[in-house]
Amino acid sequence: MINNQQYALVDPKLITIDINTTCPYCGVGCGITVSNSANHSSQAVLINGDKNHPANFGKLCIKGKNLADTLDNNNRLMAPQINNKVQKWSRGLDFVASKINQSIDEYGKESVGFYVSGQLLTEDYYVANKLMKGFIGSGNIDTNSRLCMSSAVSAHKRAFGEDIVPMSYSDITKADLIVLAGSNLAWCHPVLYQRIREEKTRRPELILVVIDPRVTASTELADLHLPIKAGQDVTLFNGLLNYLNQNDFINEDLLTSVDKTSGLVQALINAKEDSLHLSSTGLSTKEIAQFYDLFANKNKVVTLFSQGINQSNQGTDQVNGIINCHLVTNKIGKIGCGVFSITGQPNAMGGREVGALANTLASHIEFKDSHLHAALADFWQTDNLATSEGLKAVDLFDAVESGQIKVLWIMATNPLVSMPNHEKIKQALKKCPLVIVSDCVATNDTLRYADVIFPAQTWGEKSGTVTNSERRISRQRSFLQPFAEAKPDWWIISEVAKRMGFSAQFSYESVHQIFAEHARLSAVNNNGSRAFDISAFSDINAEQYQRLQPFQWPQPQGIPIKVSEQNFFADGHYYHDNNKARVIAIKNKQQTEDTHLFTLNTGRNRDQWHTQTRSGKSGILSQRHPEPEVEINQQDASLLNIIDGQLVSITTDDNHVKGQFLIRVRVTKTQRQKELFIAIHWSASNFNQGCVSKFIKANFDLISGQPAFKHSKVSIKPWQTRSEAMLVVKSPISDSLATYQVVQKITGGYCYYLASTESPADLFKRLNDFVLANSNQLVDKSDINVLNASDSIKNYFRKSYFIKDDMQATILVAQQKDDLPQGWISQIFTLTDNIDIKRNILSNDSKHLQIKSTFCHCLRVELKDIEHAIDSGEITVESIRAKTNAGNGCGSCIGDIALKLKQCGV
Ligand code: SF4
Repeated sequence: MINNQQYALVDPKLITIDINTTCPYCGVGCGITVSNSANHSSQAVLINGDKNHPANFGKLCIKGKNLADTLDNNNRLMAPQINNKVQKWSRGLDFVASKINQSIDEYGKESVGFYVSGQLLTEDYYVANKLMKGFIGSGNIDTNSRLCMSSAVSAHKRAFGEDIVPMSYSDITKADLIVLAGSNLAWCHPVLYQRIREEKTRRPELILVVIDPRVTASTELADLHLPIKAGQDVTLFNGLLNYLNQNDFINEDLLTSVDKTSGLVQALINAKEDSLHLSSTGLSTKEIAQFYDLFANKNKVVTLFSQGINQSNQGTDQVNGIINCHLVTNKIGKIGCGVFSITGQPNAMGGREVGALANTLASHIEFKDSHLHAALADFWQTDNLATSEGLKAVDLFDAVESGQIKVLWIMATNPLVSMPNHEKIKQALKKCPLVIVSDCVATNDTLRYADVIFPAQTWGEKSGTVTNSERRISRQRSFLQPFAEAKPDWWIISEVAKRMGFSAQFSYESVHQIFAEHARLSAVNNNGSRAFDISAFSDINAEQYQRLQPFQWPQPQGIPIKVSEQNFFADGHYYHDNNKARVIAIKNKQQTEDTHLFTLNTGRNRDQWHTQTRSGKSGILSQRHPEPEVEINQQDASLLNIIDGQLVSITTDDNHVKGQFLIRVRVTKTQRQKELFIAIHWSASNFNQGCVSKFIKANFDLISGQPAFKHSKVSIKPWQTRSEAMLVVKSPISDSLATYQVVQKITGGYCYYLASTESPADLFKRLNDFVLANSNQLVDKSDINVLNASDSIKNYFRKSYFIKDDMQATILVAQQKDDLPQGWISQIFTLTDNIDIKRNILSNDSKHLQIKSTFCHCLRVELKDIEHAIDSGEITVESIRAKTNAGNGCGSCIGDIALKLKQCGV
């Protein structure tokens, strides 16, 4: 059942008080203040940055700022369903509990799997992990954070003895040298990037090195950009380790905190060997020497890394390569020094804390810690504790496909889009006897394969805690009334657990009780042996939980709660048995291949989040990238006769994946030759060509299980269209209208971008017939106005249907994309002009149709203003900002000004 109620209902308490919560998007974990929007009836609430939250001090990026736009209740699930039939909660919960028990009885405990998400709150995660590992007795729970940062987790454990991010955001800005490795921070973690930008403005001597195959919005600040070849990071960092060794920057006598017997000697031998192959990085000797010299000679160095390092088949080694260099030079555990894994999801860290990865048991207790198993079983009051690792994400879905897993419960994630090898995941879900999905949306790619659907509460309705990238735990508080029958995930899981026979252990009445239990567990047999300890909150009551302020772990019981920043390793204490850190011997396994194929890199756009289920609801956020694009270097494009803006065909055909799709191309100077880039945000839900994961094979890091999302091999060639079209309507449509079809949410409606091999006249006729056949309100109405600005000689067709001055639908067809409007179409439903003005707009020539494309959304600066500024001689970011005002709001577009300068050859 799909809801059509547009606006979310605000919690009545918001009328009198503001509510502090956190952003549901990235791992920066910005604090948000939500207020009553009594005077702003177009939105349910007002969203502002929380000035007192230490993660952002009031700042928000464009995604955070536009959260109020996403709070409608369209496409929400209203009630539980079994086999597409609405059921009462009790029936759905009974059914799932009995099916899980039946599967365990018939096929054993390993026949059940949970696939959960970094979108869950910590309390949801805790209960899911407890049910699987404590009571079902299997390790088969894994999270989509496996795809995001599990290589960092494995590397932390190897080097430090525990999964610890040692530093705080404030350390980043206290550094003398910041190295950004495999991270487009300006787009993926904008508020943190702005913090670096501000510090660099204040302290120009702060050096920024960016290691990234692409020129991105993050490279604009860089003093040195290293456009490394994909997959060569181990070689670069092993080369650095060798440089540090050969040039006496490693003083072994001072390495009192490093275990010199565990791998240091072999690591140095490997580093020397790899340094003979530095040319494979694609970097010049000068670039490499500059970087090594900076790292060696700056005292305070922070290396901040993300998916470009983690998402590789040697991701764990890549992270350890970075950590090694910090350990041997003592650039860790001090103010302004260290390694920082910045997480993609809002609560990836919370999942790590509770142990919801298949290779961790619970609360930073590992499966290998057999001496702690009895204490954990006793704490949970179970005699069925899992004692061996479960299946990590790729293996979990393989087990579904092979028939080992009979019951799969997916919570708050869309694996059909996000997992590699899309076709295999689809087959696995089709074959699985029972797929249960808990989600807040009524439709997405994965839900099509669900046998049981549970409606879960969404951001704004649910309540709990999240942990950001700097180990800071913050409350996410509710400010909306729960929609229809939606329930918190922890409640759904607990109710199933009770019905499976575990009433005593899952009898939570309030979410604060789960947080308190999670806090108590962190102290079990700990005594300082595990870094994760928040037992200071073991006795927290409902009122204290409601007032809980953001804090960093550790916070052990018995000492006052520290509000100051909590950093690790300043005392040289690590968490291996001998309390020393380990340098890990690694060696590059990635060969550079000379091939006619292109290497496909994937990543994110600034204004979208994952599969767009939330961010795609905002007309503003959808403006910048209305269609998916593949980026290609201009020399490659020229060799292949590919023209900027046309459609191209991407194909892959190896033994593991066979994929093909049509996509629009962006020709750029900023892409490395023989490498392509596609953002991950589109799927079958909004793009008839499907998702980019159809090109990604399940090639993963053998230690962490994290898939390699950045090195697929593909071919690209032009695809000839005869007609391109835009269809603008008020409600979404499900019909297939053309070979290429993608939908963009615009304010007040939807815009469909279409391309076809039909003539423009034929496509126009078909779309016109479709609009008339599907719009009851357009027939038999006396007040219909039709604006027709078609010119068949020039081969363009433009027709709008109005009721009075209110536009109902517009069809625009031309031979090529350039003859269609961009930019302003997203505002078409908000134009208040009278019909004559609209007629003038519609009948303008194609050049004048491109009148508006917003560049800076905060201050409404248009792309043409930026281009005019460049044309008139402004050639620096700052002078363009001064002239146009762009970037003076949330700052998200500052890096884009620099990118624009680069694209213009400045
Ligand atoms: Fe949200 Fe942007 Fe802050 Fe990330 S940087 S938490 S997306 S406001």
